[in-house]
Amino acid sequence: MKHFALPSYKVISKITFCSKSLHSHNHCKVLQVNTIHQPIKLVGINARFTHSCLALFYVRNELEKNCPDVAIELLQFTINDNYYEMLLRLSQGDPRYIFFSAAIWNSSLIEKLTLDLRLCLPACRVVIGGPQASVLGDRFNGLEQSGQDSCTVVLGEIEAVGQKFYRDLQAGCMRSRYEGSFFSMKDLSFAYPYRPSDFTEHLLNKHIYYESSKGCPFGCTYCLSAAEKGLYHKELATVKSELIDILSHQPKVVRFIDRTFNDVPARALAIWQFLAAEAGETLFHFEMAPDRFTEEMYDFLATLAPGRFQFELGIQSTNERTLTAVHRRVDPAYAHRTVNRLAGLGTIHLHVDLILGLPYETHESFMASFRDVFAMGAHYIQMGLLKILPDTPICQDVEEAGYLFCHEPPYAILQTNWIDHATMSELYWFSELVEKFHNNRYFGSFWGYLRRRQEDIGVLFKEILAICQRSGFFQLAATQELMCRKLVEIAAKREDKELILELLRYDWLRCGFRFLPDCLLVDGSTEQPEQTKSILYKSLPAEMDGIYRKNNRNQFFRKSYFLRISQQMLWEIGMKADSSNPCLCILPEREISLYKFNKVLIFFDK
Ligand code: SF4
Repeated sequence: MKHFALPSYKVISKITFCSKSLHSHNHCKVLQVNTIHQPIKLVGINARFTHSCLALFYVRNELEKNCPDVAIELLQFTINDNYYEMLLRLSQGDPRYIFFSAAIWNSSLIEKLTLDLRLCLPACRVVIGGPQASVLGDRFNGLEQSGQDSCTVVLGEIEAVGQKFYRDLQAGCMRSRYEGSFFSMKDLSFAYPYRPSDFTEHLLNKHIYYESSKGCPFGCTYCLSAAEKGLYHKELATVKSELIDILSHQPKVVRFIDRTFNDVPARALAIWQFLAAEAGETLFHFEMAPDRFTEEMYDFLATLAPGRFQFELGIQSTNERTLTAVHRRVDPAYAHRTVNRLAGLGTIHLHVDLILGLPYETHESFMASFRDVFAMGAHYIQMGLLKILPDTPICQDVEEAGYLFCHEPPYAILQTNWIDHATMSELYWFSELVEKFHNNRYFGSFWGYLRRRQEDIGVLFKEILAICQRSGFFQLAATQELMCRKLVEIAAKREDKELILELLRYDWLRCGFRFLPDCLLVDGSTEQPEQTKSILYKSLPAEMDGIYRKNNRNQFFRKSYFLRISQQMLWEIGMKADSSNPCLCILPEREISLYKFNKVLIFFDK
């Protein structure tokens, strides 16, 4: 990790605790210090290695601007890193301050680290910012009362925290709490967080987080953003120049963290058009509101190369009463049309969210929400538990709504007035099952078939759940083959069993396999794939335009997989032709599509 010690730096005096330093003077612990000679460590603890912590870069820039003599070190960990080694890396070099960015996924870990750092670095002060800062501040309050205060919490944005914070920091005399709200600043603006060396050090092989706006036009009662009042959009020209810099480093993924990226549709479209015109393979992720799409946006999105954009659309529930109770003003029918239309474009990966445990959501209404979002045709249906986050408006309803939730982050819901604990547990496993079976590229044509039949998908998933729970599925690795076996078990009891097997074979082969697993083998009484290949080898012409030439005909047959299919299967995969004996030919090459499936040809008998 790089140090940012300035050459002009000079140690004037060593920091030592004076004998009175454990007593408060105007809310401040006084240290005998004229300047800071030990580094400040800025620490991000991410959920995964590929994630990065945007806050670190903002804090670094503000510290360098306001305290030019400090040496700063950036460190990033993941929540799964070895705890003791993390502690050693934090304590190494005797830092004067350690800054953490606390979020729901890392706040328990930060609490633990803060307590242990107090033991191994008694002179170091921990400074905690981020969405969970206030909660951790309250937890450390007890220690503060007992005279062991060595922690500062910063509420709000670092740009707004004010000069007193930096003066106290340089004087080694920090209070236990500072506050600053971006929307109360006189001149609303926030600078670009990154510099060139970040991309080769701290951001190497990681997703790049970027925000082009702050604030959210909605106020969902379960969300921390509901407390923020205001919206701010960076100038379009500034956004473009910052994105040019990011894209010059060819990142794999750029995640826009704007709470509602299409808040102003024309602006969103202008940014998309700019990004699409830039060369490269970067994937861009956006959080979108389903009710802010215009015809111009649809027209543009239809022209996109598949897989460049990924949208996350919060549906949360399709129960009107629930949506009203959580202040989410999105018409479910409108949202349905939006997702349906976006899915029809075939160019954008669509992720929709449902929340389990919202007010007035019963078992029946949650299942209805699930059926609705399944019918929308999104690629990924995330069904997360409601979290009763401290300081969100939903906390005021805890008693009235009978919310029981975990004491520790992420404060997941256990029971509500409308869903008892046993039902919550059943719906949780149901959601886990959907995550495993639906949210991947394994069974696309199978789900499409069920969607077209308007089958009660909730009932089908419950049947799969019963089979999975009986066989200990959740304790095993959820491989594509294991899930295939479970679906074949389900199919065995159905009238459309043969068609389902065909759909599952098609999905399996399009994922790139060049064999069929045991559960999908073709019945011995019918034509086997090897026989189909041999028949076609003899009957197909010596050359076929755009498919093979004389000199690579053998290679074509060696590398492709052939499978006889039924007429109905032909219709189900979108070929409206009538033909006897259609045959699939799965090629080794991948198509240019969202899931990059293997290409498929269809041969007909004359
Ligand atoms: S739209 Fe999203 S970010 Fe905005 S308040 Fe609702 S949940 Fe929070």
